[in-house]
Amino acid sequence: MAQRPVAEGLFDWPSHEPRLIGSRCADCDLVAFPTYDYCPRCGSTDVAVTRLSRRGTLWTWTRQWFQPKNPPYAGREAPADFKPFAVGYVELPEARIEARLVGGIDEPLEIGMPMELTVVPFMTDEDGTEVLTFAFRPVAPATSAAEA
Ligand SMILES: [Zn+2]
Repeated sequence: MAQRPVAEGLFDWPSHEPRLIGSRCADCDLVAFPTYDYCPRCGSTDVAVTRLSRRGTLWTWTRQWFQPKNPPYAGREAPADFKPFAVGYVELPEARIEARLVGGIDEPLEIGMPMELTVVPFMTDEDGTEVLTFAFRPVAPATSAAEA
């Protein structure tokens, strides 16, 4: 099946270990995601593309029970096909990122739990191309040891 990222320049794709792509300010060291041509904190234009860490911790989260308006929500499924999802902020070493959280709506989530970046199908274009977006999933300690 053909696939495409939901937007260019958000994350590495294709990749077995995708990372989010942000920008780091050379003057104040702020890391911003997605990338900016200038620093959103100090206004410096001395910024460079940087890859963010794949792992962090869940900072806070909530659940999206109803279909958001399109736009800004990019999904085009029929209201009856909408599946509630969890969304949250994940604290990476470089920055706090807002993202979808994978897993069912009943997935147990806890502030502070370890999370890892993943890339998941998000919707399908009219020509059948699968559209991918980034998300975070809980990392079980045993799983992370096996993957390391
Ligand atoms: Zn700056």
